[in-house]
Amino acid sequence: MVQYSQFTHEQLRALKDELEKKYEKFKAEKLSLDMSRGKPAPAQLDLSLGLLDILNSSETLKVEENIDVRNYGVIDGIQEAKKLFADLLHVDPKQVIVGGNSSLTMMHDTITRALLHGVVDSIEPWHKLEKVKFLCPSPGYDRHFAICESLNIEMITIDMLSDGPNMNQVEELVSKDPSIKGIWCVPKYSNPEGTTYSDEVVDRLANMKTKAPDFKIFWDDAYTIHHLTDEHAQLKDILETCQKAGNPNRVFIFASTSKITFPGSGVAVMAASEDNIQFVKQQLAFQSIGPDKLNQLRHVRYFQTIDGIHHHMKRHAELIKPKFDLVLQILQTNLATLDIATWSKPKGGYFISLNTMDGCAKNVVQLAKEAGVTLTNAGATFPYGKDPNDRNIRIAPTYPTLSELETAMDVLCVCIQIASINKLLQ
Ligand code: PLP
Repeated sequence: MVQYSQFTHEQLRALKDELEKKYEKFKAEKLSLDMSRGKPAPAQLDLSLGLLDILNSSETLKVEENIDVRNYGVIDGIQEAKKLFADLLHVDPKQVIVGGNSSLTMMHDTITRALLHGVVDSIEPWHKLEKVKFLCPSPGYDRHFAICESLNIEMITIDMLSDGPNMNQVEELVSKDPSIKGIWCVPKYSNPEGTTYSDEVVDRLANMKTKAPDFKIFWDDAYTIHHLTDEHAQLKDILETCQKAGNPNRVFIFASTSKITFPGSGVAVMAASEDNIQFVKQQLAFQSIGPDKLNQLRHVRYFQTIDGIHHHMKRHAELIKPKFDLVLQILQTNLATLDIATWSKPKGGYFISLNTMDGCAKNVVQLAKEAGVTLTNAGATFPYGKDPNDRNIRIAPTYPTLSELETAMDVLCVCIQIASINKLLQ
């Protein structure tokens, strides 16, 4: 195969005719396939079924500090869960709040409280400012951006490089503008590119001078142990680095067991300096009389130790690695030599990020939709749903079966080829 850019218009038109025949055949199959959201497949959920049997009426439901998990109280989570999640995030249990079922809720509520009341080092609540802005390394997680949009926080797009956000851009902006109060980071196996931040990026984030005294890093470590291979990415410890940099309160870390056990019925956690945790705990007391401690205990009894979680994640990897491999192999076979797309080859996380030629992503997603294959909306991985280059597409391979994935990827590759030819013929 030759690069499309070397074809004459006549050759491209002939190729397009051929591809459109294939496309019409797919359409006639009336497919209904979904590669849009990063959900675990049923076989992955089966791995955690034991959680449902681990607590019963004959179990001891008293835990450390003589807490009865059936009752109200313990706003920051049971001690056993704090220890388990402290091990997961490499922090001290005193730096942990174990919460409810969703880390996204914790992130949303943390920002809402900052707007209403400020954070530990605020001079005034963020809402008192004329404008609040967040830096958004992109492509990134659409639901982070949706939180900002819903709370009227202005988003500034930051380029994602191969080792994390473009720190020259970040440092320049935060050093000048006091209304920039935060940055979204998915630092390990990022959504959607699978990037892990380098030590240098972590150092620069922790050390940079910010005009806002209460600037916060929202460190969404959602995929911290979601490895696909035995080659585990190493992420420098942000909390310790911030502490050493003299900015101990700069970071809020978030994670959950959504993609370890059951999304929607997992356990979420946040970690930060003890000052931050004390401040947040006081605020949380107005929101709740305590989290679902039964579910926290279920998770603790099921996994017992961090090694238990690591072992469990290996079983997840065994189920989903073949799906990632299949997607990558189909992209390689169909597109590698054409010079019309590039894609990430992640070592962990839940997504593959694909870049088409500039100006083609919307067309590709639309063509796929008309052929019965749902992808995440083009643009969703950027603030306000607007990809400035209209090129990024997020592929979520975990939920479909291998055979569904194969068909969906065949359709996607044909759509990418057609959209690229349309562009070249313009
Ligand atoms: N953070 C990231 C980066 C995600 O990709 C997701 C889900 O896809 C979440 C958070 C959601 O987490 P939770 O289920 O704990 O709310």
